[in-house]
Amino acid sequence: MDTETLIAPASLLSHLVCPECGTVHSATVVNTVCINPDCRSTLFATYDLRPVLSKNMLKLRPANMWRYKEFLPVIYERNIVTMGEGFTPILPAQSLKAIAPDNLVYWKDESGNPTGSFKARGISAAVSKAKELGIQTIAVPTAGNAGGALAAYAARAGMHAVVYMPKLTPKVFKDECRLYGATLVEIDGNISDCGKLINEHALINDWFQLSTLKEPYRLEGKKTMGYEIAEQFNWHLPDVIFYPTGGGTGLIGIWKAFDELEQLGWIGSKRPRMVAVQSQSCDGIVQAFHSKQATSSFVDGGFTIANGLRVPKPYADKQILKVLRESKGYAVTISDDEMQFAVQHIARTEGMLIAPEGAALWQAFKKLRAANWIQPGERALLINTGNGYKYLENIEIPG
Ligand SMILES: *Cc1c(COP(=O)(O)O)cnc(C)c1O
Ligand SMILES: [Zn+2]
Repeated sequence: MDTETLIAPASLLSHLVCPECGTVHSATVVNTVCINPDCRSTLFATYDLRPVLSKNMLKLRPANMWRYKEFLPVIYERNIVTMGEGFTPILPAQSLKAIAPDNLVYWKDESGNPTGSFKARGISAAVSKAKELGIQTIAVPTAGNAGGALAAYAARAGMHAVVYMPKLTPKVFKDECRLYGATLVEIDGNISDCGKLINEHALINDWFQLSTLKEPYRLEGKKTMGYEIAEQFNWHLPDVIFYPTGGGTGLIGIWKAFDELEQLGWIGSKRPRMVAVQSQSCDGIVQAFHSKQATSSFVDGGFTIANGLRVPKPYADKQILKVLRESKGYAVTISDDEMQFAVQHIARTEGMLIAPEGAALWQAFKKLRAANWIQPGERALLINTGNGYKYLENIEIPG
């Protein structure tokens, strides 16, 4: 390899922009949220979207999310911290064939990602970028999966991870953090309480925080789901995408990906309708969507088996609601009982042991199909965000 290939930038990243007030931020320094004190919105990475490669060239790339490295924020390939995350399979949802014979319904199954959830995507991108920017200690408040992913990727990067997690989270999520060498702090409260405490402690200890959408690059990792959906459906997007919405990173990221792909000329202007699915415990987005609010209120009804969805007030609620409205989408609440049933039924009928967050989508699809919000002939995609094995402590086992 010559020096040119060693130092050539992998990424077309140009700067960061605030989607709310338009303030431009440099991408060569550490950023959190918009510096405008009246705004503080999540920042969007912006790329110089030139067609430097063709759709066909993609086929020669490795089967992981870094196949889209030009549109990811890490400038030098040597900084990429990867364990093969992404390029997950798309599988027909065969259990829905009897219920919806006129629809093609698919899973995008994220359960095979390192540490068993799609959090690996966002964390791989964010840890890589943090490494590139010279950060040493990374901290995150988490409902479970983000903590495990951060702990693993930090270990791989030779960095230190600090994880704040609610005490009520199933044991496996805590054990994996400790095994990967992270400092785990258990909090008597929900993820918002973890967030408040970690804010104070990060300031004192000089930790860099990777809280959902208060740091620009986890979004970039999760947006690769949008690139994959387009590529795997041969550049014909499905009509409806269901997304289990906690902080909303994937929902916003997938939408951002479609915009970028259109700018690249790889897809047209047609977009899927985006459906946010929430747990009965925390459904502030569903409430705000139906009452036509631009932001959501704090809602916390306590424990849910879908710990990834126990987010009382997503930081980027405005962006989530904007995507739902722009896409002519919808928002649905699902109960823990419905998720329990779906996890068990899907395991028996599809051979997939999926996370309750993913199972919630299956119930939401059935509701929207029954209400004819989904029409015969439409193609729908359900994103199973996690591996059911991590949740078994809270899943009823048939006798
Ligand atoms: C974190 C998480 C979610 C929610 O993801 P957001 O992008 O924050 O909305 C959904 N499912 C699982 C399994 C998760 O770990
Ligand atoms: Zn702003």
